[in-house]
Amino acid sequence: MSNHRNGRRADDGIVIAGGGLAAQRCAETLRRSGSDEPIRILCAETHRPYDRPPLSKQLLAGERAGADLEFRDPAWYDANGIDLLCGVAASRLRPAEHQLVTADGGVLRYSRLLVATGGSPRLLTPLVGYDNVLALRTVDEALELRRRVVAGTRLAIIGAGFVGLEIAATARALGADVTVIEAAPAPLAGVLGETVGAWFAKLHRQHGVQVLTRRTIARVESQSAQARVLHLSDGSAVPVDQIVVGIGTDPEVAWLAESGVRVGRGICADADGRTALPDVFAAGDAAATFDASSGVYVPGSHWEAAARQATAAARLMLGLEPPRPAAPSFWTDQYGLRIQYVGRSAPDDAVAIDGDPDSHSFSATYTRAGCATAVLLVNRPRQLPAARALIEKEN
Ligand SMILES: Cc1cc2nc3c(=O)[nH]c(=O)nc-3n(C[C@H](O)[C@H](O)[C@H](O)COP(=O)(O)OP(=O)(O)OC[C@H]3O[C@@H](n4cnc5c(N)ncnc54)[C@H](O)[C@@H]3O)c2cc1C
Repeated sequence: MSNHRNGRRADDGIVIAGGGLAAQRCAETLRRSGSDEPIRILCAETHRPYDRPPLSKQLLAGERAGADLEFRDPAWYDANGIDLLCGVAASRLRPAEHQLVTADGGVLRYSRLLVATGGSPRLLTPLVGYDNVLALRTVDEALELRRRVVAGTRLAIIGAGFVGLEIAATARALGADVTVIEAAPAPLAGVLGETVGAWFAKLHRQHGVQVLTRRTIARVESQSAQARVLHLSDGSAVPVDQIVVGIGTDPEVAWLAESGVRVGRGICADADGRTALPDVFAAGDAAATFDASSGVYVPGSHWEAAARQATAAARLMLGLEPPRPAAPSFWTDQYGLRIQYVGRSAPDDAVAIDGDPDSHSFSATYTRAGCATAVLLVNRPRQLPAARALIEKEN
């Protein structure tokens, strides 16, 4: 890790703004593909790039330490001539000058730039400012949550998305008393539809989680900056020791305002990370990628897409062919079940179940106008290649 220099240079080579999965993949692909240009990674966090999926799983469970999640040790960055600037945030982009300004006043001139600043958790206004409310995006937040959640902790999780449900599963294994509060009719209903969402609700209830759907927070009763009781929209009340807000993420792109780069629900990019600006690429959760089937830009939020898009952007920077397109996919682990999803369904797609959901081994195939749009696999990992082939053939 080198010290950040404030001085201007004629060209600082390839600059990567952001220090997570997409940043790391881009740097690794550049070096593996033969680039010997200078590479700089600017990472707002003080940690070296690390992997986030274990935060809500093994790290929260106490099975892995924070340092285990780092992709590479310091020697790797030195050996590969990669200047990793931790604790340095990008604060402004001047595309006409090919310049990036950092929060500490430094100016870097890039030949090519990757924007990979990820996302940050959405805030829930009624819960802002309480000491016992956390979100889970960083390793520091995960370690803090691990300290606070022990057997008997009354933990409320707001939002039954993937991260919220994973935290619920891990916290139950730690012996916490867990309540999940969700505004929609079922967990994950917006992504997987109500039929499969209801299966997730049942799974969590079977493990002792109180799953409260169609409810929002009406009022918070507090004492000494601690939220003590959540009063819900149906008149019920949930006493709490600790709260996690898991209502999704927003792309971390405010720093690009006034840069001229097109920002919607993320920086508008194609599947290979090209933006409308010359020599500026984007990948991962900071990017909104054009989806030809729906005709809209879809924000990134999953590991595999971030890794692929960053790999593609790195190869395009070098004038090489990007990897072949891949259907969107993700996985989640809950209560020892491996749950995988490939494709992109809409909530009103038809869904056909194969297998017995109560046996916790089944697949759900989503279709629209007779075409498969997505497949969900619960504990059927061997079927993933066939599911992927089906989705890629039909879309
Ligand atoms: C708890 C948790 C569990 C997850 N589990 C799964 C899972 O099971 N399956 C799955 O498919 N996906 C999962 N994901 C999603 C997956 O981790 C993300 O899609 C992936 O990390 C995106 O990578 P990224 O590089 O785009 O962003 P990030 O990993 O968020 O990295 C962005 C980095 O950029 C830094 N940064 C932000 N702003 C600036 C700035 N202005 N200048 C410099 N640096 C900046 C940030 O501090 C951060 O370090 C999970 C995410 C979380 C939080």
